Formats: sequence, C-alpha cells, structure tokens
Amino acid sequence: MEFNTKVIHGGQKHDPSTGAVMPPIYQTSTYAQVSPGDHKGYEYSRTGNPTRTALENSLASIENGNYGLAFASGLASIDAIMKLLQPGDEVISTNDLYGGTFRLFSSIFKKFGIKFHFVGMDNIDNIEKCINDKTKIIWVESPTNPMLNIIDIRKCAALSRNKNILLVVDNTFATPYLQKPLDLGADIVMHSATKYLGGHSDVVMGALIVKDKELSEKLYFIQNASGAVCGPMDSFLVLRGIKTLHVRMQRHCENGSAVAHYLKSHPKVGKVYWPGFEEHPNHDIAKSQMKDFGGMLSFSLKGDKYEDAIKILENLKVFTLAESLGGVESLSGHPSSMTHASIPKEEREKIGVIDSLIRLSVGIEAEKDLLADLENALQLV
Ligand SMILES: *Cc1c(COP(=O)(O)O)cnc(C)c1O
Repeated sequence: MEFNTKVIHGGQKHDPSTGAVMPPIYQTSTYAQVSPGDHKGYEYSRTGNPTRTALENSLASIENGNYGLAFASGLASIDAIMKLLQPGDEVISTNDLYGGTFRLFSSIFKKFGIKFHFVGMDNIDNIEKCINDKTKIIWVESPTNPMLNIIDIRKCAALSRNKNILLVVDNTFATPYLQKPLDLGADIVMHSATKYLGGHSDVVMGALIVKDKELSEKLYFIQNASGAVCGPMDSFLVLRGIKTLHVRMQRHCENGSAVAHYLKSHPKVGKVYWPGFEEHPNHDIAKSQMKDFGGMLSFSLKGDKYEDAIKILENLKVFTLAESLGGVESLSGHPSSMTHASIPKEEREKIGVIDSLIRLSVGIEAEKDLLADLENALQLV
C-alpha cells in the first residue's frame, strides 16, 4: 500500500458491530466479562482501549513498523523509552536536542544513574568517540530544533547495529511523510503527535513505533505499568489528523520553501536555516533521507538585535506567536526567550540560538498572505 493510502486505511477496520467508518470514541474505563478472564480482548482502559488500538495500528502502518504505542504526551513516550535502561547505562544524544527532552534526561534520568553525552551529532565522529560497553541508546532528532541540523540516520544505524545499542529517532519534525527512520535502520521511532500527526493544535500526545516484537512487549509493559496513556477522545483526534497528513505536509513543504526563499533574499535578514538550501551543511543527507524539506525554519536578523526580533514577532498577524509547531496555522517563536531560555546565553549562542533568531512553523494558509505578513513586519525594523 502506498503511504497516501496508508494514512487513511492503514491498520484500520470498520467497526464490527455497526459498520461505522471511523472507530467510535470508546469512552469507557472498563469492559464487562462473562466469567473471570472471559472477555473480548479488553479489560481496563489503561491496558487497552479500542479507539487507542485503532490509532496505534495506524501509527505502526504509516511508519512501516509492526507495533505502535500511544502515550499522554511526547515526553511520556520518551519517559517510557528511558525506563528500558538500568543505572550505569549511557545515552548519546545531540547538543541541540528539543528542550523538554534535554530537561527529562538531565533533570530526571540523570538522578537515577543514567549518563548522557550531548554532542554535535551532525559530525558522526563525535558519536563514535562516545560509544563504549555501557552505551545503550543513540538518540537522534532530525531535523533538529531550532537550528534545522540534519543527522545521518543511516550512519547512526551502522554505528548501533550488532552492538546491543538502540537507535531512537524523534521523527516529530519530519513525520513519516518525509522520513521513515525504521526503513533507515532505527529501532524506535518517537513522535510528539501533538505536532504534525495531530496537525490541528488541539491535542497533546506521544507515540512510539517499533518493528521488533520483543522490544514492543517491553514497551507495552512499561506503558501499562507506568500508565501515561492517552484517552479515547485524544486517540480519535490524532487518528483523524493522520488521515490528512500527506496533503497537509505537501502544503507545509511548498509554503516552507516559499518562505525560506523569500527570507533569504530579504535585505534585513541575516541567515536562514532550512535544509532545502543547497548551501545547508547537510543538504545532501537531507536529500538522501527525506522526501522534501518540511515547513520548519529559523532565521536571524542583520545586526542581531533582540528588540528587532521582538518587534517583528509582535507585529506578525497571520503567524501567531506561540509555543508548539506542526499545526495547520502558522506559528512564530523566539527560541532564546521561549523554548531555549533555560540554556545559558553562552551555551545557547554556541549552537546558533542568538537573540534575533526567530523560528517559524509555516502552516498551510495561502502563500501570498504569509509572505505579505512577513514583509509587513520586517519593514518595521
Ligand atoms: C514537542 C516536542 C516534544 C515533546 O512532546 P510533547 O507532546 O510536548 O510532550 C519532543 N520532541 C520534539 C521534537 C518536539 O517538538
């Protein structure tokens, strides 16, 4: 089945009792049993819920995996992966990791004796140098947030293979429309389904997808034992979102490209970070592992003035100033004072998060209105 068919039908059956085309929202915590243990496959909704099952089957299908697991948030799904580890185990990850993931690793799991190495992963040698007998996870995010760095997933898979190391890819920014990490050799794909999968800024959710049965059983055990599951209504919303993922992503990519090129030629703009540009340091890797370049980008201003960035953000009208990304509506953000404010200025600037950096999640509105909105705000500085 092609991807564009999978997003609509993959892993789905019509409801057996009524023929309902969409799975009902099974708003129930428990299920009647005829005799103890004699039930229809569901006992309690932390353990399993049919609406969540429908979503989990869809997730497995669109990522070319065999098993999907849905959680209460992206971070809850990351938390479940980390609970596979033992004290003393080591994790290698990128130095421009999503802020919430960094916080979970460094403020919570470090306490339990897990050691983390945060390195510039776009240089594969930096990863190789950190690998030892205790390495259990290589954690990749690509493209990264907010600098849009690209990490070579195939090369990471070559490093982790045959070594008892799990390769995890946070595929939130790319989505399976652009990039299929399991096909590139990853063991676990992770999503903040809050973003593109849900796609409408109306739900918070996380997801994991794997191929291996034994690994899926370990993660299912943690999902049930720790209990950070998502509810049936949220499952329904994300399932509905996934059905238009391919058409939304196509438009996100078209608009993203238009905005990136417009900004690049603007006299007030400093640098534009978008993997679609040939001069992007990892453009060739992006081309080889992604179908297109997505709707996320960042840019800085000439002169790098904090006040200029704020003025632009206050005056954008179609772009809403807000945290999050991946919804149908365009959003803007200021990493140095919002998502990356907790990182010391010096550290932040080392990875490129300077005061004038603005991040855009380009939505699926008319291109003309998005460009006019940016033009209007940029002429004020
Ligand atoms: C938002 C996000 C997360 C965290 O997901 P939540 O749903 O907010 O818990 C993790 N990784 C990336 C890349 C994200 O954008």
